[in-house]
Amino acid sequence: MSTLGDRIGERLLIATHNRGKLDEFAALLAPLGIAVVGAGDIGLAEPAETEDTFVGNARIKAQAALAATGLPVLADDSGIEVEALGNRPGVHTADWAIRPDGSRDFRMAMERTWAELEAIAAPLPRRARFRATLVLAFPDGTEHLFEGQAPGTLTWPPRGAEGHGYDPMFIPDGQTLTFAEMSAAEKNRLSHRADALSKFIAALER
Ligand code: IMP
Repeated sequence: MSTLGDRIGERLLIATHNRGKLDEFAALLAPLGIAVVGAGDIGLAEPAETEDTFVGNARIKAQAALAATGLPVLADDSGIEVEALGNRPGVHTADWAIRPDGSRDFRMAMERTWAELEAIAAPLPRRARFRATLVLAFPDGTEHLFEGQAPGTLTWPPRGAEGHGYDPMFIPDGQTLTFAEMSAAEKNRLSHRADALSKFIAALER
Protein backbone atom coordinates (compact mmCIF):
# COMPACT_ATOMS: atom_id res chain seq x y z
CA MET A 1 0.00 0.00 0.00
CA SER A 2 1.30 3.49 -0.79
CA THR A 3 2.03 5.86 2.10
CA LEU A 4 0.71 9.41 2.38
CA GLY A 5 4.23 10.54 1.42
CA ASP A 6 4.09 8.48 -1.81
CA ARG A 7 0.71 9.95 -2.66
CA ILE A 8 2.00 13.51 -2.25
CA GLY A 9 5.20 13.16 -4.27
CA GLU A 10 7.89 15.84 -4.42
CA ARG A 11 5.78 18.96 -4.87
CA LEU A 12 2.75 19.93 -2.86
CA LEU A 13 0.15 22.59 -3.62
CA ILE A 14 -0.48 24.78 -0.57
CA ALA A 15 -3.89 26.47 -0.59
CA THR A 16 -2.77 29.85 0.67
CA HIS A 17 -2.30 33.33 -0.76
CA ASN A 18 -0.33 34.40 2.30
CA ARG A 19 3.38 34.77 1.48
CA GLY A 20 4.47 34.57 5.13
CA LYS A 21 2.69 31.26 5.63
CA LEU A 22 3.95 29.85 2.34
CA ASP A 23 7.56 30.67 3.26
CA GLU A 24 7.06 28.85 6.58
CA PHE A 25 5.64 25.77 4.85
CA ALA A 26 8.54 25.81 2.37
CA ALA A 27 11.12 25.87 5.18
CA LEU A 28 9.34 23.21 7.22
CA LEU A 29 8.80 20.78 4.31
CA ALA A 30 12.15 21.24 2.50
CA PRO A 31 13.99 18.79 4.81
CA LEU A 32 11.49 16.12 3.73
CA GLY A 33 12.27 16.69 0.07
CA ILE A 34 8.85 18.28 -0.53
CA ALA A 35 8.80 21.56 -2.48
CA VAL A 36 5.74 23.79 -2.23
CA VAL A 37 3.76 25.88 -4.69
CA GLY A 38 1.21 28.42 -3.48
CA ALA A 39 -2.35 28.74 -4.76
CA GLY A 40 -1.67 32.44 -5.36
CA ASP A 41 1.41 31.66 -7.44
CA ILE A 42 -0.63 29.64 -9.96
CA GLY A 43 -3.43 32.19 -10.16
CA LEU A 44 -6.12 30.36 -8.17
CA ALA A 45 -8.92 32.50 -6.74
CA GLU A 46 -9.13 32.91 -2.98
CA PRO A 47 -12.42 31.36 -1.79
CA ALA A 48 -14.61 33.11 0.79
CA GLU A 49 -14.06 31.67 4.28
CA THR A 50 -17.66 31.31 5.34
CA GLU A 51 -17.39 28.71 8.12
CA ASP A 52 -17.05 29.56 11.81
CA THR A 53 -14.34 27.01 12.61
CA PHE A 54 -10.70 26.67 11.57
CA VAL A 55 -11.34 23.19 10.20
CA GLY A 56 -14.38 24.36 8.23
CA ASN A 57 -12.40 27.14 6.55
CA ALA A 58 -9.36 24.93 5.92
CA ARG A 59 -11.68 22.46 4.15
CA ILE A 60 -13.13 25.25 1.99
CA LYS A 61 -9.62 26.27 0.88
CA ALA A 62 -8.51 22.68 0.29
CA GLN A 63 -11.58 21.73 -1.73
CA ALA A 64 -11.48 24.93 -3.84
CA ALA A 65 -7.83 24.34 -4.82
CA LEU A 66 -8.43 20.63 -5.41
CA ALA A 67 -11.45 21.32 -7.63
CA ALA A 68 -9.43 23.84 -9.66
CA THR A 69 -6.34 21.64 -10.18
CA GLY A 70 -7.17 17.98 -9.52
CA LEU A 71 -3.98 17.83 -7.42
CA PRO A 72 -3.43 16.84 -3.77
CA VAL A 73 -3.64 19.98 -1.63
CA LEU A 74 -2.57 21.06 1.82
CA ALA A 75 -4.69 23.88 3.22
CA ASP A 76 -4.16 25.82 6.43
CA ASP A 77 -6.50 27.94 8.46
CA SER A 78 -5.01 29.68 11.42
CA GLY A 79 -5.49 32.52 13.80
CA ILE A 80 -4.95 33.85 17.27
CA GLU A 81 -7.28 33.20 20.21
CA VAL A 82 -7.13 35.64 23.13
CA GLU A 83 -8.53 33.94 26.24
CA ALA A 84 -9.96 37.07 27.89
CA LEU A 85 -11.70 38.04 24.65
CA GLY A 86 -13.63 34.78 24.55
CA ASN A 87 -11.06 33.36 22.12
CA ARG A 88 -11.60 36.16 19.60
CA PRO A 89 -10.46 37.08 16.99
CA GLY A 90 -10.10 33.32 16.29
CA VAL A 91 -11.39 32.51 12.80
CA HIS A 92 -11.72 36.27 12.20
CA THR A 93 -8.02 36.99 12.82
CA ALA A 94 -7.34 38.08 9.24
CA ASP A 95 -10.61 40.09 9.10
CA TRP A 96 -9.52 42.36 11.95
CA ALA A 97 -6.75 43.59 9.64
CA ILE A 98 -9.01 44.56 6.73
CA ARG A 99 -9.31 48.29 6.06
CA PRO A 100 -12.37 49.84 4.39
CA ASP A 101 -10.46 49.93 1.06
CA GLY A 102 -9.82 46.16 1.30
CA SER A 103 -6.11 46.41 2.11
CA ARG A 104 -4.64 44.63 5.16
CA ASP A 105 -3.16 46.46 8.12
CA PHE A 106 -1.90 44.23 10.92
CA ARG A 107 -0.78 47.16 13.05
CA MET A 108 -4.44 48.19 13.15
CA ALA A 109 -5.50 44.62 14.00
CA MET A 110 -2.99 44.42 16.85
CA GLU A 111 -4.12 47.83 18.17
CA ARG A 112 -7.73 46.64 18.24
CA THR A 113 -6.71 43.47 20.08
CA TRP A 114 -4.77 45.40 22.70
CA ALA A 115 -7.51 48.06 23.08
CA GLU A 116 -10.10 45.36 23.74
CA LEU A 117 -7.82 43.80 26.36
CA GLU A 118 -7.20 47.16 28.06
CA ALA A 119 -10.94 47.63 28.39
CA ILE A 120 -10.95 44.64 30.73
CA ALA A 121 -10.22 45.19 34.45
CA ALA A 122 -6.55 45.03 35.56
CA PRO A 123 -4.41 42.99 35.90
CA LEU A 124 -4.33 42.70 32.16
CA PRO A 125 -5.11 39.12 31.14
CA ARG A 126 -2.55 38.35 28.46
CA ARG A 127 -3.00 34.65 27.73
CA ALA A 128 -3.39 33.79 24.04
CA ARG A 129 -2.63 31.01 21.63
CA PHE A 130 -2.07 30.71 17.91
CA ARG A 131 -3.88 27.80 16.34
CA ALA A 132 -3.32 26.13 12.99
CA THR A 133 -5.50 23.53 11.34
CA LEU A 134 -4.22 21.68 8.30
CA VAL A 135 -6.35 19.73 5.87
CA LEU A 136 -4.63 17.44 3.37
CA ALA A 137 -7.07 16.57 0.60
CA PHE A 138 -6.69 14.08 -2.24
CA PRO A 139 -8.56 13.82 -5.55
CA ASP A 140 -10.13 10.51 -4.44
CA GLY A 141 -12.05 12.43 -1.76
CA THR A 142 -9.95 11.41 1.25
CA GLU A 143 -9.01 14.10 3.77
CA HIS A 144 -6.58 14.14 6.69
CA LEU A 145 -6.71 16.66 9.53
CA PHE A 146 -3.79 17.92 11.66
CA GLU A 147 -4.07 20.53 14.42
CA GLY A 148 -1.40 22.52 16.19
CA GLN A 149 -1.08 25.31 18.68
CA ALA A 150 1.43 27.72 20.18
CA PRO A 151 0.45 28.97 23.67
CA GLY A 152 1.83 32.27 24.92
CA THR A 153 1.18 35.82 26.12
CA LEU A 154 0.51 39.14 24.42
CA THR A 155 2.79 42.16 24.85
CA TRP A 156 2.55 45.87 24.01
CA PRO A 157 3.96 47.75 22.17
CA PRO A 158 4.63 45.33 19.30
CA ARG A 159 8.29 44.30 18.91
CA GLY A 160 10.29 42.96 15.98
CA ALA A 161 10.20 43.08 12.20
CA GLU A 162 10.37 39.40 11.23
CA GLY A 163 7.43 37.11 10.57
CA HIS A 164 3.96 38.30 9.66
CA GLY A 165 0.50 39.07 11.00
CA TYR A 166 0.28 39.34 14.80
CA ASP A 167 3.84 38.06 15.41
CA PRO A 168 5.13 41.35 16.95
CA MET A 169 2.72 41.16 19.93
CA PHE A 170 3.04 37.44 20.73
CA ILE A 171 5.60 35.84 23.06
CA PRO A 172 5.43 32.04 23.03
CA ASP A 173 5.59 30.30 26.42
CA GLY A 174 9.12 29.81 27.77
CA GLN A 175 10.57 32.64 25.60
CA THR A 176 11.32 36.35 26.10
CA LEU A 177 11.29 37.38 22.42
CA THR A 178 8.19 37.91 20.32
CA PHE A 179 7.75 35.74 17.22
CA ALA A 180 8.69 38.83 15.16
CA GLU A 181 12.03 39.18 17.01
CA MET A 182 13.02 35.57 16.28
CA SER A 183 14.75 34.15 13.25
CA ALA A 184 12.50 32.19 10.92
CA ALA A 185 14.21 29.00 12.08
CA GLU A 186 13.49 29.74 15.72
CA LYS A 187 9.85 30.60 15.08
CA ASN A 188 9.52 27.45 12.97
CA ARG A 189 10.62 25.41 15.98
CA LEU A 190 7.89 26.85 18.20
CA SER A 191 4.96 27.81 16.00
CA HIS A 192 1.44 26.43 15.76
CA ARG A 193 2.11 25.59 12.09
CA ALA A 194 5.22 23.63 13.08
CA ASP A 195 3.19 21.78 15.73
CA ALA A 196 0.50 20.84 13.18
CA LEU A 197 3.13 19.99 10.56
CA SER A 198 4.96 17.68 12.95
CA LYS A 199 1.76 15.60 13.07
CA PHE A 200 1.49 15.77 9.28
CA ILE A 201 5.11 14.64 8.97
CA ALA A 202 4.54 11.75 11.39
CA ALA A 203 1.61 10.65 9.20
CA LEU A 204 3.62 10.73 5.96
CA GLU A 205 5.06 7.28 6.59
CA ARG A 206 1.63 5.76 7.25
P1 IMP B 1 -6.18 32.73 7.36
O1 IMP B 1 -5.45 33.02 6.11
O2 IMP B 1 -7.65 32.85 7.29
O3 IMP B 1 -5.75 31.42 7.97
O4 IMP B 1 -5.75 33.90 8.32
C1 IMP B 1 -5.04 33.69 9.45
C2 IMP B 1 -4.57 35.01 9.99
O5 IMP B 1 -4.05 34.70 11.29
C3 IMP B 1 -3.41 35.61 9.22
O6 IMP B 1 -3.81 36.57 8.33
C4 IMP B 1 -2.58 36.22 10.33
O7 IMP B 1 -3.06 37.49 10.62
C5 IMP B 1 -2.86 35.37 11.52
N1 IMP B 1 -1.80 34.40 11.68
C6 IMP B 1 -1.82 33.09 11.36
N2 IMP B 1 -0.63 32.54 11.62
C7 IMP B 1 0.14 33.52 12.10
C8 IMP B 1 1.48 33.55 12.54
O8 IMP B 1 2.24 32.59 12.51
N3 IMP B 1 1.91 34.75 12.98
C9 IMP B 1 1.13 35.84 13.02
N4 IMP B 1 -0.10 35.88 12.60
C10 IMP B 1 -0.61 34.71 12.15
